[in-house]
Amino acid sequence: MRKKIVAGNWKMNKSLQDGVTLAKEVEAAVSGINNGVDVIIAPPFIHLTEVKKVISKVKLSAQNCASEASGAYTGEVAADMLKSAGVGYVIIGHSERRSYYKESDEILNKKVKLALANGLTPIFCIGELLPEREANKHFDVVKDQITKGLFDLSETDFKNIVLAYEPVWAIGTGKTASAAQAQEIHAFIRSLIVAKYGKAVAEDTSILYGGSCNDKNAKELFANPDVDGGLIGGAALKADQFAVIVSSF
Ligand code: PEP
Repeated sequence: MRKKIVAGNWKMNKSLQDGVTLAKEVEAAVSGINNGVDVIIAPPFIHLTEVKKVISKVKLSAQNCASEASGAYTGEVAADMLKSAGVGYVIIGHSERRSYYKESDEILNKKVKLALANGLTPIFCIGELLPEREANKHFDVVKDQITKGLFDLSETDFKNIVLAYEPVWAIGTGKTASAAQAQEIHAFIRSLIVAKYGKAVAEDTSILYGGSCNDKNAKELFANPDVDGGLIGGAALKADQFAVIVSSF
């Protein structure tokens, strides 16, 4: 049975002190929810070790990692450093990294491999831009992203991937994909995994939806058979709203 997951991406928000406070609030808000959902938060790098101290049910993710293992890469944080800090997951390929920092499929593929080699679970993001959706190219776009980013992994490695489908036009815009749109493309993504790794692997792969998912629409989105949870941006910064999303299964 694949895991149900709700992951909060804090992006570049919160001072260290406010981040620790939010982590405590999230831990308290979700500790009584026993619906089998894995709850993950992804604070900024410098928060990770302090946040780690105040969570137990909630799991810890980074928002990014370096595409090289170590060395002269000023400003970067390596996958093995994250592992040594007690981090379990890392978001790779978020659309903000792809567009603002020009992270190519090749770079993201290197990051995925380093994350896996260091025992981290990548939360790998894919999703189309608005013009691509309007031109009905969204299926081709996600196929290309998943093929170049992930499909040279061994089956054993692929089993450690969490996918997040995030239509870029829905991120931070207040526009959510409809439940039907989400189900349609999640089912398509799962069919790609079936074709590459077989039905058993595909059935076990968690595919999260991200893009203006909130406490009001999560229930309808998560009710779809191929939507296994959410990657949450804005609504992850309010512990009470985030907890409602977690309890939406
Ligand atoms: C995100 O950045 O992954 C995201 C889904 O953001 P938001 O929920 O704010 O749209």
